[in-house]
Amino acid sequence: MTRPAARGAAPRAEVFDADIAGRMLDVGLLRRLLAWLAPERMRYLLSGVLVLVQAVAQVMLPVLLSIVVIDRVLMGETDSAVPDFGLVALTSALADATGTSLLFAACLLYGVVQIAVAVAGHWHRVTLADAVVRGLSRLRRDVFVHLIRQPAAFWDRVAVGRVTTRVTNDVEALYELLRSFGALVGEFVPFFVALSIMLAADVKLTLIMLAFAPVLGIMTFLFRRLTRNLYRAARQSVSLLNQTMQENLAGLTVVQLHGREGENLARYTAINETNRRNETRAQGIETVYGAVNSSLSDLAVAAVLWFGGLAAVVGDGSGEALTLGTLVLFTRYIDMLFQPIAALGDQYNLLFRAMASGERIFQALDWHIPVHRPARPAALPAHLAGRLSVDRLTFAYGEGVPVLRDVSLEVPAGTRLAIVGPTGSGKSTLVRLIARLYEPPAGSVRIDGVDVMDVDPAQLRRRLGFVLQDFHVFAGSILDNITLGDPEISRERAIEAAGAVGADTFIEALPEGFDTPLAERGRNLSQGQRQLLAFARVLATDPSLLILDEATANVDPETEALIQRALDRITEGRTSIIIAHRLATVADADRVLVLVNGEVEAIGTQTELLDRSPTFARLHAMQFREL
Ligand code: ADP
Repeated sequence: MTRPAARGAAPRAEVFDADIAGRMLDVGLLRRLLAWLAPERMRYLLSGVLVLVQAVAQVMLPVLLSIVVIDRVLMGETDSAVPDFGLVALTSALADATGTSLLFAACLLYGVVQIAVAVAGHWHRVTLADAVVRGLSRLRRDVFVHLIRQPAAFWDRVAVGRVTTRVTNDVEALYELLRSFGALVGEFVPFFVALSIMLAADVKLTLIMLAFAPVLGIMTFLFRRLTRNLYRAARQSVSLLNQTMQENLAGLTVVQLHGREGENLARYTAINETNRRNETRAQGIETVYGAVNSSLSDLAVAAVLWFGGLAAVVGDGSGEALTLGTLVLFTRYIDMLFQPIAALGDQYNLLFRAMASGERIFQALDWHIPVHRPARPAALPAHLAGRLSVDRLTFAYGEGVPVLRDVSLEVPAGTRLAIVGPTGSGKSTLVRLIARLYEPPAGSVRIDGVDVMDVDPAQLRRRLGFVLQDFHVFAGSILDNITLGDPEISRERAIEAAGAVGADTFIEALPEGFDTPLAERGRNLSQGQRQLLAFARVLATDPSLLILDEATANVDPETEALIQRALDRITEGRTSIIIAHRLATVADADRVLVLVNGEVEAIGTQTELLDRSPTFARLHAMQFREL
């Protein structure tokens, strides 16, 4: 059953296409996201503790270098304005314990603290990434579950390819967001610790350094604004490139047969060129930014050396000269002050993108078409006879005009009904309604007297057998494709079903028989073979009611005979509704329904219809001419 494009009246592609507000921080959204992250709260806590350990150790390194080594050990300075956090005492204790010099003990300590920084940092990142990935894989699964539960009416309004790429990329963007959020925390904790140490050491010098911060902040912001649009354009052109490539490869035969290679190449080249221009410009801006950024921190070093150097040599007027160690300490802390500001700028674009991604994911989760699930579902009898009655059924897709009007019919149990009619007359729609893929606003469909709307849809479909025009192949072997993973269908039963429809001959000739893996979309099968497999699949489930959309493609007479035999076999003694495209099928049916423009023109045996239905007489004559 192919699904033609929805009519104009039906709202299309509302999901994933709605305008995204693009806010930088959407608290509501983050709060919702938290619901998925909550189960890993202990991991986040551990990662938070680790980042604190790392930050403290990181800030202690310059203190060790400048206050302990330079001031105390090398310069013999005893009163420094900078607190030493007990590191001097620790160094002497270590020297005593190991029987080494103070200098050696200080260097040893420096090495140990450095290792602590590395280990805590690594452990923090691994824990965080692990926690984030766990939460997001749950989110991804929930989105998938939500999507596969949507009724057919949902998919009429959504472009499938778009959903797939969006769900994949948007979850990826959220991962980046959460990971970089952790990284930012790792940058800002040392920022504040270093800042308070510097303020304690020398307020004036700290303020001089801080004067550079707003310059860096504003510059970073401006650069990011500039690159944001370029990167967005680059991303768009990349997805356009992928789409073009995909379309061309999927439709390669058409492209080659119509000699469209040149035009398509030109189109591809143009998009490729746009992409190159945007990437190059963005890279150009990046390098300028990088250079300005590092020059700025070097300028700050120069300023500190100048003002601090003066204070160290002549004193700053307060009577106390700056120690050499303090001066070194300041130059070492510059990066800790500047790094987070630059990092914040780096995260700026990411934050925007991730917020939009989050919004789209939640949009997908919120958007659904309500499915009527009966509060107390009627149980279908254990054995269905398969009597079908359709009563005054009227149906329209979306808000459009009705494609079925007042359709009524009766199919006695165990008989075959063929449906014929011009394309677009509503044949597929009718069988979709019988399977409850859509919900009719008026009229009823009853199986053995039970209204299908009163039955749990999943239970109903288990009793129905569907053979669609396209035999959809899933990744797996021939056997997997017959059982579709249903544990109730044993290997023996699947093989028996294949034998019954005459599919065993070609299957056993395959290199691995029933275990032969099927290529993508079943490329390694012929049209006729696919048809036989579809029959085997449905026969294995032993349905009470069979609905079959006959393949329209022409097959050779030999395969035709094979299919005919298989068709007889699977419809034998079973209520069957067949959208018929071949005269043989019509001839075999107990009765034929002629559908024209969504209305029943006539229903009866073939001979009756030749008299009563002008449409049937015309179709009949046309097919005979073809034969
Ligand atoms: P047939 O099977 O007889 O060719 P269909 O039942 O497929 O006819 O289509 C009947 C009418 O309903 C056509 O006008 C078709 O365009 C429209 N239609 C079919 N499927 C959809 C859909 N998913 N959304 C909107 N309109 C549809």
